[in-house]
Amino acid sequence: MESPNQEYLRRGNKIAGFVIHKTEGSFKSAVDWCTNPISQVSYHFIIDRNGDNICLVMPENTAWHAGLIRNPTAEIVKNGSNPNLYTIGIALAGLASEKPTLKQITKCAELLNYLANYYEIPLDKNTVIPHNSIRADKLCPGPYVSTEVLIYLSNCSQA
Ligand SMILES: [Zn+2]
Repeated sequence: MESPNQEYLRRGNKIAGFVIHKTEGSFKSAVDWCTNPISQVSYHFIIDRNGDNICLVMPENTAWHAGLIRNPTAEIVKNGSNPNLYTIGIALAGLASEKPTLKQITKCAELLNYLANYYEIPLDKNTVIPHNSIRADKLCPGPYVSTEVLIYLSNCSQA
C-alpha cells in the first residue's frame, strides 16, 4: 500500500535523520488516514502494537509528517527548510499518553538500524529525534518513547 500524500524524491536533499511519532489512534485508523488524500498526512513507516510494519512512502520520497516547525530544539532542523525533505518519519501506533509495546520498540530499533546502514546515517541524539523537538506544541511521541533507548537498541541490533 502506498500513500498518495507524498512528494516524489526530496528536491535534492540528502536524508539526514529520523523523526519518531505516535499515531494518536489505532494502526488501522492511521493507515486509513495516511492513505486518504484529504488528510495531507503520511509517515514512511507505521509500526503496529504487535510489531507489524507497513511502508506507506518509500524513504527516497518525501512524506508529510513534520512539515510545521514551532520552537524547534532539534539541531537537525535547518532554518526555513521543511524537515520532511531530509527526514524519515516512523510512527508507532497508539496514543502519546500510552506506553508503546516492546515489540514496537524492538521493530523500530531494527528499522532504524537497517535504514541507518543503508543510507549511511549515524544514529545519535541529533539524528533520531522526537516529533516535539521540531514542533514544541505537540506532545508526539509522548513521555513513553525514549529516543535514547531507540538509539541504544538500534546500535545493538544486527541488521
Ligand atoms: Zn508526530
